[in-house]
Amino acid sequence: MHLPWRNHSFLFFSLHWTMTQPDRESVMNLPGLDPLPIKSTRTPAAATHKSDTSLDRPVCLPRASLARRSSPRLFGNPARAALMGSSQALALWVVITHLLSLGGGFASCAWPSSATHDDAGCLSWRVMVEANNARGWRTVPAPCVGYVKAYMTRGQYGRDLDSVMEQVSAYVDQIAAAAADGLDAWIFDIDDTCLSNLLYYQAKRFGAYDPMAFKKWASQGACPGIPPVLGLFAALQDKGFKVFLVSGRDEQTLGSCTSQNLESEGFSGYERLMMRTPEYRGQSSSLFKSAMRKQLVDEGYRIRGNVGDQWSDLQGDNVGDRVFKIPNPMYFVP
Ligand SMILES: [Mg+2]
Repeated sequence: MHLPWRNHSFLFFSLHWTMTQPDRESVMNLPGLDPLPIKSTRTPAAATHKSDTSLDRPVCLPRASLARRSSPRLFGNPARAALMGSSQALALWVVITHLLSLGGGFASCAWPSSATHDDAGCLSWRVMVEANNARGWRTVPAPCVGYVKAYMTRGQYGRDLDSVMEQVSAYVDQIAAAAADGLDAWIFDIDDTCLSNLLYYQAKRFGAYDPMAFKKWASQGACPGIPPVLGLFAALQDKGFKVFLVSGRDEQTLGSCTSQNLESEGFSGYERLMMRTPEYRGQSSSLFKSAMRKQLVDEGYRIRGNVGDQWSDLQGDNVGDRVFKIPNPMYFVP
């Protein structure tokens, strides 16, 4: 993790050390000073520095101390003084350049902000999302937009998705084939489970949910399928499971294009597509999907597994024997 204040403290320490390095001869010539204090005066400075960097404290050298330490009276020899003055100027230049490169300056000697978002901070945020600790968020935090884009497009999302599929496969191997009565069922969500909306959210820079814009995107029926999920989808049907697709999409306006989109991406042969009808409009996804699952259970189906990208797909009533969460740091659906 990048800790700029630690770099600052190092550079301040370097500056401090340089500026407090009187030549031994000069110190010896100062009235009332013994050579030995050179060592003893450095030790507390080093200890203070170590303490500052090991704790969450900013390192700010007292300006009065700097002024006192750089007093010309320490440099009895004019040539030596000139040389040390150059060293100080060089050290000062290095520190200023470094601080400016970090977007700060001398005035930025401040406490490290807890709002700092580097990759590690955004990773923490993503883990909170996947663990369902972060809820109700409307957009990806602005400093993490680039991180989420990189996560989704540069391989990690695919690796995490493959890992989820491995866990599903291990579970499917455990329960073997579906029972002969044809009532063993699996449930899949659609958006960002079977079909990807990455292109849409990327174009929107992962902004707040816009129902009209999303409807326009979905009505094009051009959402790419997610291959690992398609593989699972096909394997489960081969083993005799009945697959149900349950989606919060509006059936009246998006039913036709959704079924066509699924078909064109290879998601065919499923038992039933269950979408939001007018009576469920305005209900949370969790409530709507609970109602759909209850309907299946009432019909006698045993829900052996449930796959979705939102926790609202996987919580509520009759969630199934096992639930599997597909990663999605792009948006939150309650
Ligand atoms: Mg979804």
